[in-house]
Amino acid sequence: MRPTQIYYEPTTLEYPLGKELKAKFSDIPWIPIMNHNNIEELRTKENSEFPELKQLLIIGTRKTHKYVENHKVSDFLVPFTSSGCTAMCLYCYLVCNYNKCSYLRLFVNREQMMERLIRNSNRSTKELTYEIGSNSDLILENTITNNLPWIIENFMKSQKGKLTFPSKFSMVEPLLTLNHQGRVIFRMSVNPESIIREIELGTSSLEHRVEAINKMADADYNVGILIAPVILVDNWKELYSELFDYLEAKLSEKMKKQMFIEVIFMTYSFVHRKINADAFPDSRELYDAEKMTGRGMGKYCYRNNLRQDGEIFIHDELERRFGIGKILYIC
Ligand code: SF4
Repeated sequence: MRPTQIYYEPTTLEYPLGKELKAKFSDIPWIPIMNHNNIEELRTKENSEFPELKQLLIIGTRKTHKYVENHKVSDFLVPFTSSGCTAMCLYCYLVCNYNKCSYLRLFVNREQMMERLIRNSNRSTKELTYEIGSNSDLILENTITNNLPWIIENFMKSQKGKLTFPSKFSMVEPLLTLNHQGRVIFRMSVNPESIIREIELGTSSLEHRVEAINKMADADYNVGILIAPVILVDNWKELYSELFDYLEAKLSEKMKKQMFIEVIFMTYSFVHRKINADAFPDSRELYDAEKMTGRGMGKYCYRNNLRQDGEIFIHDELERRFGIGKILYIC
């Protein structure tokens, strides 16, 4: 990614990563800001300017480090080296939190975050798994910062604990030769190719994602598949059957043997509808009043009967191809 402009907190230039980024992007305008959380000239832009906002890079330091308990693959969600993303998935969960300011923010105080993480892990009486990618896509971030090898290598200095992160990107090469000690769980999100093309704008193709999955499994990472988010477009049964056929045909035997699967149905919102209507007027409409119902706080989810049909179909189709016990949860 080549950002069009960089907004930065001046103190970030005191950190090694801040210095590196300054040298790497020396030909791009750098604009000083007080606080990455509140950049008024960006916050007040029109929704229609969302794609241009996604071309920006924001550099700051992370000030809040609160770990939130989680009960899926990880034990805690850990705010880490970035939030936001340069891609523009029409349903992106980050838009609910950051609205149109869901551009990529990099936090340069990674040493501080790592120290805290290692301390937390060493102090715990049981082996904990930390989700470090719940606010961004670390594989994408890594193409700019090269943070992931640094994170994995440094976390291996802890006595125990595991890291996990999801992705929709295929650029996994820098991770393949790392000494991860089997303590990293990589989860690749997949969807039918037509959904990727029309809805997950700016992410890697299905073919490339599946290649990346096999490479990571080959490099002895624990690898999971996220069928996420399941989007119940009109021909969804056909599309998801084709996707599962494709996975069955293309995933390596090594991957199939060790994989686990998470299934997450799409949540949409009023904010998405407003931004998408203004920023992507020709895109596919994801809101469907007949299929969806309100879920509080301006959010929508699929109606119960459709949702149940979806859960049963996806569960059975996955189990038929990949065997019993691979699905971790459906939510
Ligand atoms: S790749 Fe993930 S973080 Fe980026 S826009 Fe899509 S859903 Fe959001």
